[in-house]
Amino acid sequence: MRTDTGKVFHLEDYKPTDFLIPETHLDFTLDPERTIVKSKLIVERRAGVGADAPLILDGDGLKLVDIRIDGAPLGDNAYMASPERLEIRGLPENGRFTLEITTEINPTLNRQLTGLYRSSGVYCTQCEAEGFRRITYFLDRPDLLSVYTVRIEAARSEAPVLLSNGNPKDKGALTDGRHFAVWHDPHPKPAYLFALVAGDLGVITDSFTTASGRHVDLGIYVEHGKEARALYAMDALKRSMKWDEEAFGREYDLDIFNVVAVSDFNMGAMENKGLNVFNDKYVLADPETATDADYAGIEAVIAHEYFHNWTGNRITCRDWFQLCLKEGLTVYRDHEFSADMRSRPVKRIAEVKALKAHQFPEDAGPLAHPVRPRQFREINNFYTSTVYEKGSEVVRMIRTILGPDLFRKGMDLYFERHDGDAATIEDFIKVFEDASGEDLSQFGLWYDQAGTPNLAVTYDYDQATKTFEIEIEQSLKPTPGQASKKPMHIPIKFGLLGAKGRELKPRSAKGGLVDGDVIHLRKRKERFTLSGIAERPVPSLLRGFSAPVTMTSELTRTDLIFLARNDGDEVNRWQALTELLNSKLTSNAKRIRGGKPATIESSSIKLLGEIAANVALDEAFRALCLSVPSESDIARELGANIDPDAILASRDALIKTVAEANEEKFTQIYEQLADDGPFQPDAASAGRRALRNVLLDYLSVAEADPKRAVAQFNGADNMSDRAAALHVLVQRFSGSDATSQALKAFEDRFGNDALVMDKWFIVQAMQPGVGALQRVERLMKHKLFSLDNPNRARALIGAFSSGNQTGFNRADGNGYVFFAETILTIEKKNPQLAARLLTAMRSWRSFEPVRREHAREALANIAKVGGLSADVRDIVERTLA
Ligand SMILES: [Zn+2]
Repeated sequence: MRTDTGKVFHLEDYKPTDFLIPETHLDFTLDPERTIVKSKLIVERRAGVGADAPLILDGDGLKLVDIRIDGAPLGDNAYMASPERLEIRGLPENGRFTLEITTEINPTLNRQLTGLYRSSGVYCTQCEAEGFRRITYFLDRPDLLSVYTVRIEAARSEAPVLLSNGNPKDKGALTDGRHFAVWHDPHPKPAYLFALVAGDLGVITDSFTTASGRHVDLGIYVEHGKEARALYAMDALKRSMKWDEEAFGREYDLDIFNVVAVSDFNMGAMENKGLNVFNDKYVLADPETATDADYAGIEAVIAHEYFHNWTGNRITCRDWFQLCLKEGLTVYRDHEFSADMRSRPVKRIAEVKALKAHQFPEDAGPLAHPVRPRQFREINNFYTSTVYEKGSEVVRMIRTILGPDLFRKGMDLYFERHDGDAATIEDFIKVFEDASGEDLSQFGLWYDQAGTPNLAVTYDYDQATKTFEIEIEQSLKPTPGQASKKPMHIPIKFGLLGAKGRELKPRSAKGGLVDGDVIHLRKRKERFTLSGIAERPVPSLLRGFSAPVTMTSELTRTDLIFLARNDGDEVNRWQALTELLNSKLTSNAKRIRGGKPATIESSSIKLLGEIAANVALDEAFRALCLSVPSESDIARELGANIDPDAILASRDALIKTVAEANEEKFTQIYEQLADDGPFQPDAASAGRRALRNVLLDYLSVAEADPKRAVAQFNGADNMSDRAAALHVLVQRFSGSDATSQALKAFEDRFGNDALVMDKWFIVQAMQPGVGALQRVERLMKHKLFSLDNPNRARALIGAFSSGNQTGFNRADGNGYVFFAETILTIEKKNPQLAARLLTAMRSWRSFEPVRREHAREALANIAKVGGLSADVRDIVERTLA
């Protein structure tokens, strides 16, 4: 474990390395406890670097066995080796030499799951961000590119499959039942993209022919017996490869592409060149075990990692401050892919929901940081929603500002100019400036200023001159380390709706820049005057959620209802409805906390009934509209003095009123959707299931009877319907026989499949109320549960702390006490996972005073522990700051 040293890394301290390593030859002799790694590096001193400059290599917990230069062993005083560092002095005059290093590592003891470790008997690696230095001493940084040749040797009985990056070059039998394989990757890459997998695995194979005719062998490796569950991932992979050729002109560049699913994995998946390693959650699916959300997740993550081959691997990051260069861009690419595969507006709404649920609270709390941070203590803590999701929004805004053609021209230039580079955000912005002739320097602030801008909008219509004025003022609150902010360039897509919902097109615009349907806000406060508007319009701003901002406007309830019914932009239609519901849900939460009953207007009730029955809208969209904002959505809207019990009561009151008023209509739609033929995982079928399942919740509440959910649970032919019914039973009928029987039936059926049982842990961890804590403690003793496995820990501890507002944020603070203890237990083995889970407490200051004090105390109890990992120390101190 890397203990915190207090060292902070700064972007402005970047310096290129003194040495290059054009070639890296690795030789692994695999053994569960004593793996020998022989590394042979061709090293070159960079021109202009003094002959006395030492070579300093990174390590992490390493044991040096042997070291040689140009074949000769080094004397003791020629080098200094510690587990964290290897420094060599007195290097050959000519500055080019071969350095051979032998280290010994123990993959079985490695529970941090970075470097080389064993998961269910399979050797696998995870090197991003700084895991390669846990395998061998190296210049472990993204700007050091090297061509890798890897030889792997293992007992054939233990590891019949031997995989690494690139193309296979050689393989064969050795004595004593051992065998070997040699892989060569011709593309220079940074160490974080190195991968090795060895074990006894099943495989499905297929092939793909690229646009220029290159034949590529495809393989997906999984646990034996689970091969059929990888077929959907294979299908998604082939669609991704084709899409990247069509949408971005990018072809695959090796003869082979492999994916391996492992069950112990800290992240979602990893884009190692030619050998992607996946959390099995993002590979395995069949109707029996996977929900529609799982299918969509697999499609998105398979695409994401594949797309990294160009945005991340061929063009990598100069340093970790530029992480968003590969992540934000690749998330944008996978979002576009999913939008093309599925319904574009539905996909966009899902993205907006996720951004608001995860990134907005990050921006509003103590962990706020720019899309490109300028300093960090532990890079593992910057794999955040800001870097990924907001990073993607920034790329989307470039496209909105330039339009699709210039955006594509800029992307083409990026690939042409920077192929083989370790690039920066400045390089990325420059290609779009060069492709378009636009000055994007003000836009660049999106990478450097943290926080979510707010737009305050006012309108004025002048009947006499037929002009409509929009005045917008942007503001951005201070965030840690950034007291004052500059105005940003914010692209605001808009439309104006006339009385019957007809689009009114302005004849011309004065004041700030309006280009087609985009308002370009560039000053702190700016006025846009649109002429030729025949009637007073209802404005629809921020269409398609064209910028990651919040907005306060003068729109009335009547305007919002009008937009929810008529806006041609489905994202804004959903947004208008959400705003209506949010204002009711927040005001009721305050009323309930003040001892008053909730009130619900008939207009909202009617509107929801109308949307449910509107067959002109697709089912997935209707399902999204009918999904009442979550408890954490309501908490975010309230912003301060949060009482989770009042929020839950407010939400339940709305659902109950809507359900009772629309019971007949909802029953009819639910029953019409019941007969959908055999299971299909496509987006349209998934949409029908989503609508039916959201109606199941309303109906169960209206009927105050579990029988409908029980019938759906027992009759389901797929996991989406089964899991949705179980969710309704647990949430609405806790403690009932029906619920206990369903939980038992689920366990009987899937009790041998840990991945599926995660759903069972999650649903129980999220059951609201004070009983949750005891239940979670009991479930931790379940035979399938282990804090060592990140998926299990996330299913129970993660779902409880970030998904159960009332059960976790208890007024007596016991949820926090338990959580702090559990974090410290997890940290001892897997600090990265512990730190990630701990971010669930980032919004602690927004609670009402009693809970706030309990939360502060729990955080302080973590902070006072000596010898904390860098990961947890960094998060806890920033959270408390
Ligand atoms: Zn990624």
